[in-house]
Amino acid sequence: MNSQNVKAIVLAAGQGKRMGTEVPKQYLLLEGHELLYYSLKAFEESPVDEVVLVTGADEISWCQEHLVERYGFTKVKKIIAGGKERYDSVYAGLLAAAPCDYVLIHDGARPLITEEILCDVFQGTVDYGCCTTGMPVKDTIKVVDEEDMAEDTPDRKSLWAIHTPQGFSYPFILEAHEKFREGSFQIPVTDDTMLVELFLRKRTKLVKGSYRNIKVTTPEDMELAQVFLKSLQRNQKG
Ligand code: C5P
Repeated sequence: MNSQNVKAIVLAAGQGKRMGTEVPKQYLLLEGHELLYYSLKAFEESPVDEVVLVTGADEISWCQEHLVERYGFTKVKKIIAGGKERYDSVYAGLLAAAPCDYVLIHDGARPLITEEILCDVFQGTVDYGCCTTGMPVKDTIKVVDEEDMAEDTPDRKSLWAIHTPQGFSYPFILEAHEKFREGSFQIPVTDDTMLVELFLRKRTKLVKGSYRNIKVTTPEDMELAQVFLKSLQRNQKG
């Protein structure tokens, strides 16, 4: 990835309550490997220089032994504890990733990341400073009130579902997170590009990824991920 120093933050500090399993979802087995293995493998095989893995405080030594050492992931240089909210985990990852020029932030719960998506996001990051992968939505989306009554039906043509990885010029994303943390903003922060948009007034470049790049959240997502993974593996062999 040219002469710049590029790091990845892989997030795996969530509890995955919506999965309803005792084992956090990132450690569930998918085709014989932990869900998290697939993201780490994608970054290991990418031109990224280093990976910071953010996980639960009690899971650090398990990840070191059962993922990093077992699979020989040499790019995972740091495994650190995340925080209560996703943005706390990202911030911890950002501090651990310093110094670097660019950073790619990825949900460890998205095992179907591909080299093509990763490279497209990186290129968008170099060109625009803030870039995310995602896909145009297929369904009609409605805004609803607390009583599940429709309030608005935005034009589907202008709506994308946002995925990860997301890439940033490191100073941009650090500043955006610091500005967010300085105030006591009551906004739901569900991704990182929104912080750059809100606090730095910079625009995010969107690059089309894949409808397969799902975030494994509920039990049926595991079934889908298995089907998609098998087809990706078939294509790689063929
Ligand atoms: O909760 P959600 O599905 O949006 O989480 C997306 C990713 O962020 C997951 O990979 C999860 O492990 C991670 N996360 C985290 N720290 C948290 C919450 C979520 O690293 N406090």
